[in-house]
Amino acid sequence: MDTIGLIGGMSFESSAVYYRLVNEMVRARKGGLASAELILHSVNFEAIVALQKAGDWDMAARRLADVALRLQVGGAGCVLICTNTMHLIADEVAAKISVPLIHIIDETAKSLHAAGRKRPLLLATRYTMEHGFYAERMKGLGIDIMVPDAADRTTVHDIIFNELCAGRVHDSSREKLIDIIDRAVDNGADSIILGCTEICLILDPNRLPLPGFDTTAIHARAAVEFALGAEEEVEEEAA
Ligand code: GLU
Repeated sequence: MDTIGLIGGMSFESSAVYYRLVNEMVRARKGGLASAELILHSVNFEAIVALQKAGDWDMAARRLADVALRLQVGGAGCVLICTNTMHLIADEVAAKISVPLIHIIDETAKSLHAAGRKRPLLLATRYTMEHGFYAERMKGLGIDIMVPDAADRTTVHDIIFNELCAGRVHDSSREKLIDIIDRAVDNGADSIILGCTEICLILDPNRLPLPGFDTTAIHARAAVEFALGAEEEVEEEAA
């Protein structure tokens, strides 16, 4: 089994979900008491948020690239940035390491294609919805992202940072997100991307008016497939 390297802490609420999902998926695949070989490097989110607010993506890239390198040196066979937002600087992180960076946008696009969905509503932080890196990469992969209007983007962003990343889940906020989804249904969306790794804490992707794509679960599954795929290939060669 390959070792999975997780860059977490953004926020630790979602890193805890990654940790559980990756281990549950390995146990389900391998049986018994099997669990994942993984290294989690959890950063201080307050420092990363300060860089986001300052727009200092270069410094954020240097910081996360350094963490990625440390994971590789520690034995990780792949690296995941456990947040959609920080994929804004994924290319810089990938350039610093020689093991694969499992990219959350690419894996989400694969899931959308497999389900025949091409016009998803993206629910995410303001950075992810507005910066363009997410929509552009998706466009290159044949997916035409829809984002909420400006007022609704503020609502989603504030729910993520003021509540979910702080460990608070409110029914009133879930209702606001469902209202935003209902408006997107009227505007022609064919699916919903839970494009922030904390949104799965408040929305069940299987109980939405449209098919939901939970980036946390999709990303975790890709890591497990990578880690066990390598092992299964070795087993096949030995047989
Ligand atoms: N975890 C979130 C995401 O997936 C937001 C936290 C962050 O800004 O990194 O985008």
